[in-house]
Parts: sequence; C-alpha cells; structure tokens
Amino acid sequence: MTPSVEASNGSASPPSEWTPSSWRSRPIKQQAVYPDPAAVRRATSELSRLPPVVHPQEIARLKASLRDVARGEAFLLQGGDCAELFDYCRADAIESKIKLLLQMSLVLIWGADKRVVRIGRMAGQYAKPRSSPTEKVVDDNGETKEVPSFRGDILNGYHLDERDLDPQRLVKAYHHSAATLNYVRAAIAAGIADLHRPLNWTLGHVKDPQLKAKYTEAVHFLQDMLRFMHTIGADRSPKLDTVDLYTSHEGLLLEYEESLTRLMEKPILPGDEEVAITPESTTGEPKREYYDTSAHFLWIGDRTRQIDGAHVEFFRGIANPIGIKVGPTTPTSDLLALLRTLNPSCEIGKVTLITRYGAAKVRELLPGHIRAVEGSEYRGACIWQCDPMHGNTRSTASGIKTRRFGDIFDELRETLSVHREEGSYLGGVHLELTGDAVTECMGGSEGLDEDDLSTNYTSFCDPRLNEKQALELAFLVADSYRR
Ligand code: PEP
Ligand code: MN
Repeated sequence: MTPSVEASNGSASPPSEWTPSSWRSRPIKQQAVYPDPAAVRRATSELSRLPPVVHPQEIARLKASLRDVARGEAFLLQGGDCAELFDYCRADAIESKIKLLLQMSLVLIWGADKRVVRIGRMAGQYAKPRSSPTEKVVDDNGETKEVPSFRGDILNGYHLDERDLDPQRLVKAYHHSAATLNYVRAAIAAGIADLHRPLNWTLGHVKDPQLKAKYTEAVHFLQDMLRFMHTIGADRSPKLDTVDLYTSHEGLLLEYEESLTRLMEKPILPGDEEVAITPESTTGEPKREYYDTSAHFLWIGDRTRQIDGAHVEFFRGIANPIGIKVGPTTPTSDLLALLRTLNPSCEIGKVTLITRYGAAKVRELLPGHIRAVEGSEYRGACIWQCDPMHGNTRSTASGIKTRRFGDIFDELRETLSVHREEGSYLGGVHLELTGDAVTECMGGSEGLDEDDLSTNYTSFCDPRLNEKQALELAFLVADSYRR
C-alpha cells in the first residue's frame, strides 16, 4: 500500500492551511456580534481548557456505523428538538427522548430489516439560525414590540429581558451539554434501553381501524420476537441490554465549536482493518486529527452552507462525520463543490446529505441531486437522509408556526419512491420530535387540528412531532419498507 503524504509523517492531517480558527477570515452568515469581545475571549478560553464532551473513540464508532448506513446495511434515525433549551436538561425530558428513539428504532428494525443507528438532536442543539435579526412580540402589557430574535439558549434567552447576546451562555451551554450527555450515558448504562423491560405500546389514540390493525400487527410481531428471544436466551446477550445513542447539533456558533476542537489521536477500532493497516501504525507514530468534541455529529444548516463561507471552512477540517442540509435553494453544482471541499478523499459515510424540500417540491428537485452525486466520484459514498420537517413549515391564519403530519409523511414517502426509482438508498430520517405530549404539528391519528395547537404548544422555535405522531411516522415508514 502506498503511504499517503498525510499518513506518512504520522502527524496532523487537516487540509492545507486549515486551522480551527481559519473560518474567521471568511464571510459569515448568522454571525454573533457580541457587544463585548473581551468577554467572549474570556468565555472561549475557559471552554478551551475544559475536557472534550465526546471522545474520538465514540466518534470513530459512529463513523464505522455510518459506513454501514452508506452501504445500505443500516438505517439512520436522527431526532430531537428544534431548539434545545437549557431547561430541557432534566431527567424526565432526557429519558422520554431516549425511550422514544428506542421505540421508533424497534419499529424501523422490524420494517427495514436493518440495524438502526441512533443520533439525538440533543446535548448541544442550542444555537438557532433565524431569518430576521428582530421579531415582533407581545409584552406582558399586551403591547407589540420589535425585539432581537431569540437565537437559542447558547446566544440569548427567550424572555424579553434576556434578548442581548451574553457570552457567558457559551460556558453554560458546555455545562448543560455535558450534564445532558452524562445522564444519557448513565441512563443507558442503568438499562433504560434494556429490551427486557416492557415498552408502552398503547395505541388507544389511533382512530382509523385500518391503521390500528396495521400497528397492532407490528406490535404483536415485536412482542413475539422479544418473547422468542427470551425463550431461546438470545436476549441475555449484552448487546440487548444496551444501545448506542450519539449526539448531534447544527454547528452554527463557530466560536463555541472552535473552542472544543482538539487535535487528538485517531482511534483504531478493533477489527477495523482499513484503519489498522495504515502506515502510521507500522511506524508506531499515531495519526492525529482535529475532532470537534462538542458532539459526535454536526451538520451545516441550510442558511450557512455557502461554499466560500465561514461554516464550510470550519467543517472541512474536522474529522467528525458531518451533515449538509440540502433544499430547494441548493444548486446541483454547489452540491458537488461542497462534497469536494468537505470530503475530498470520498470517505464513505463521512457526509450525510439531509434533504428538505417540502412535500410539493421533492419530486421535482431530488432526482437531479441524486443523479449529480451518484453519477460522480461520490457514488455510494454519501448517506441520503430525509428531513421531512423543514420544507413543510407553515403559519396558521393566527400566526402559529405549524406543520401538517400529512405533508411530513408525503415528503418522506415521495423521497422513498424517488430513491427507489433512481436506484439509490434512502439511509435515514431526520426529525424534530419530543417525548412530551405537545400539540405543535397538526394531524396524525389523534386528529389534532388548528384549534388544538394552543393546548400544549411549548416549542420556542419549530413545531415538533409528539410521541404518538413520531411513533406513527416510524410505523408508516416501516410499512412502506415492507411493501
Ligand atoms: C433545523 O434543523 O432546525 C434547521 C434550522 O434546518 P434547516 O437548516 O434545514 O432550515
Ligand atoms: Mn428546526
């Protein structure tokens, strides 16, 4: 094997002229302009002394799983809040999200007949891109005022007296992220995902008799399977006592991401021949790479993926697996330019293309994107993931942001059929959801309509699927895989 230039000296291998701060010389969208730059420097230097939130070993394990997804051997389920608040760092909120992701993944395993890789939009999803720097709100006296937009807990607070950017929130974000992930790890180690525990599959809310029959059949199948595994002792395998749950967020606030980016040894996973036979392991010199240790997986949002922009510059240097949101405003040529910048070595599973067109546009736009990527040197290297949420946001006449369950499902179903027609593999879904009984998206088996939205609308940004809607979506996806 010919040693590559980067591998032969066993030292750092980020792309040329890249540093964790090289994004600073590029034009930036959604910039955070802090009134006191010295206070930002104090906060980021505190962050850069703190330990990583995640370890490269975990990132390497996720990368190995994502290679399986890209090859069509596994399915990627990614979900969580649109805007995670520091206040969601509570045991009950964390547990309900883990349980929901687990339950959805069981349904998907049944449907797609593949292993499911789980990534939460959690433990760091604190920064939000906004379409306008200000927004109109009604204050406590009933008066309408124009105030700075809420940009996520890492930047400012939702309450009207907290709308100025506060650099101390960068440090608070780290501690909330670490505490959340600590509890995720503890709860999983304690057996929250243990399949020996009965799961709550109540389907009382499903009114349509045909759907109910379908879900009941799936649940019976899953229960039978678990019982059978128990009978033969297969459920005593340590694998069933635990699951992997990785974390992700939009890499939007680059001051934060830079401070947590560290040059660390590239882990060698047991059985990973591709990695183990690299020249650096024979010379004894470990290879080192830059890891953004704030999360296992990060993505670039729809508003910040300019090819010469700061975000793409930052992302091209990190070894983590990354996502790129792809939508109606993504020209096909940009897509290939992005891949060539962000994944020049065509690493399999490195980039997840998170498509979000809206139900009405997916059929028109997705085929061109698939053909461009799969007809290039990136054939088979990317993961195609459907985000059926962000192209389907709408406002009611009274100004409430919502999404229709039917539109969400339609985009997902169309995406699946386009991939089938094009011969590519839809490897995952990306959802905004919560384990709480919120009323933010309309439709689904509970039949939520516009009047129901005010019952329990608690999102501070985009509307999320509630537990029942999320599970129902998993059943619908599973069902279309089985057909
Ligand atoms: C999001 O995922 O919350 C988001 C803002 O998405 P997009 O960048 O696709 O609009
Ligand atoms: Mn969102």
